[in-house]
Amino acid sequence: MQLRTRFAPSPTGLLHVGNAYSALLCRQWAQENGAELLLRIEDIDHTRCRPQFIESILEDLAWLGIEWPQPVRIQSRHLEDYRSAIHRLRELGVIYPCFCTRKSIRQEMERMALAPHAGDVAGLYPGICRDLSEGERAKRMEKYPFAWRLDIGKALAKVELPLIWREADGTAQAALIDHDEVIGRKDISFSYHLSVVVDDAIQGITDIIRGEDLKAATGIHRLLQRLLELPEPTYHHHRLLKTTSGERLAKRNSATTLASLRGMGIAPEQLRGFLLNQQQPVWPFAEQDNNNNREKIVRLLGNS
Ligand code: GLU
Repeated sequence: MQLRTRFAPSPTGLLHVGNAYSALLCRQWAQENGAELLLRIEDIDHTRCRPQFIESILEDLAWLGIEWPQPVRIQSRHLEDYRSAIHRLRELGVIYPCFCTRKSIRQEMERMALAPHAGDVAGLYPGICRDLSEGERAKRMEKYPFAWRLDIGKALAKVELPLIWREADGTAQAALIDHDEVIGRKDISFSYHLSVVVDDAIQGITDIIRGEDLKAATGIHRLLQRLLELPEPTYHHHRLLKTTSGERLAKRNSATTLASLRGMGIAPEQLRGFLLNQQQPVWPFAEQDNNNNREKIVRLLGNS
C-alpha cells in the first residue's frame, strides 16, 4: 500500500517556526517511510483565511525544502464534497439543526447551574435543540440560521464500539466525546472536523502527522470516519514547539515567521538542522521579533 501523509496549513497568517516544525516532521516521516507527502490548504474559514497567505505558504514551504505533488487540494474549491457528507449524516439521522447562540447556551448553562451536580455539565452543550420536534425544526430552519450538531447518543448507537484510534506508537486511544459537537457551522454548513476527515479519505491519507493540540479532536474525527464508512488512518500526534517558558508558538503571539528568518539571511538547512536536532522542541527566543533577537537567532542557527 502506498503510504501517504499530508501537511494541512490554514492560510490565516504567515507560516511560523511552529508550523515549520510540523511540516518538517511530515517530510522526515515521508522520507524515512518511502511515503508521499501531500500539501493541503485548509481554507474553509472564510472569516480568517486570506488568498495572499496561500501564496506565502507555498513560497515558504518551497524555501524550507518541502516538495509536494500537484495539484494541491484547496478546500474552498471542494465545498460540494463536504455538503454531501452532511447530507449523508442527515440521512443517517445523527445530526440535528441547532439554533442556539453563544448567549442562549450560556443562559441555559447558568440556569442548569442551579441544579445539584451542576459542575458536571460545565463546558458541555446542554442539548437545548436536541429534542425539538420535526415540525418545530422545519419551521425554525426557514427563519433562523442554524448549525448542525452531531447527536452523540444516536451517532454512537450507529457504529461499532469501542471507538478507538491507532496512535503511531502502537497504542489504541479511546475516542472520548462528551458533547454534541458542531460539525456544520452556521455560516458555511460544515466544519473543520468534517472537511478534514472527508479530505483525508479522498486523498488516501494513511498517516496523519500533526500537533498534539489536535489530539482531543481525533475522537470526533474517528466517529465521523465510522459513520461515513471512511478508512482509518494512523495518527502521529507530535509535541508542539514551545517557547522556553513553555508556551506554544502561535500566530496570535507573534511567533517568529519563516519570512522574517529569510529576511535575516538564515538558510533553510540551518532552520531544518535546528528544529530537527533537539531533544525537546523549544524555540528559545522571545516571541516578539526585535534586533536583539535577530542577533541571537543568527548566532544560534548559524551553529546548528
Ligand atoms: N489546518 C489545521 C491547522 O492549521 C491542521 C489540521 C490537521 O492537521 O488535521 O491547524
